[in-house]
Amino acid sequence: MTIGVLGLQGAVSEHIKQIEAAGFKGVLVKKAEQLEEIDGLIIPGGESTAIRNLMNLYGFIDPVKDFSSKKKPIFGTCAGMVLVADKLNGSDDAHLKLMDINVTRNAFGRQVESFETDLPVKGLAEPFPAVFIRAPYAESAGPQVEVLATYRDKIVAAKQDHILVSAFHPELTNDTRFLELFLEMVKESAKTTGAEV
Ligand code: GLN
Repeated sequence: MTIGVLGLQGAVSEHIKQIEAAGFKGVLVKKAEQLEEIDGLIIPGGESTAIRNLMNLYGFIDPVKDFSSKKKPIFGTCAGMVLVADKLNGSDDAHLKLMDINVTRNAFGRQVESFETDLPVKGLAEPFPAVFIRAPYAESAGPQVEVLATYRDKIVAAKQDHILVSAFHPELTNDTRFLELFLEMVKESAKTTGAEV
């Protein structure tokens, strides 16, 4: 099974390393055609406006929406969470609109650029070492969204159907457990696709 990491901008190589550490094949996705060769897509952290502009430039917006409409799993970390949100606080221009969450960018305050905390996450037996870097959070989520983690009452990890998001950067730790939640989703979806073939 192959996991693609959108390789336009941001924390890309760390994801590839972690995917390989978890025993999967990781590929850098630089062209929209590559979406046809992968089973799951990670949209990494970085700068969401820059990633969006590059997605426009390289023709990624509709192909990623198509990928999602086939129920292929997508995992957005940090800027990736901003990119998949249906609504962005203070902006009319949400990006991919794949998850019913209302996201605030740089939400933990400018003075707190980054921090790490042991975060309880639904589905993980022990807290996860969550690294937040100019992180967003979701203010609210629709009824189909399963909240996986909150920090100070704000949603920082969630799942809706085949879409997973984290406001933190699981790829910046040696702990593969959060990524494995996504890999499970990819395995499940591949089974379904396989059954239809
Ligand atoms: N603040 C960034 C944004 O909104 C996200 C930061 C990150 O991905 N670490 O694009």
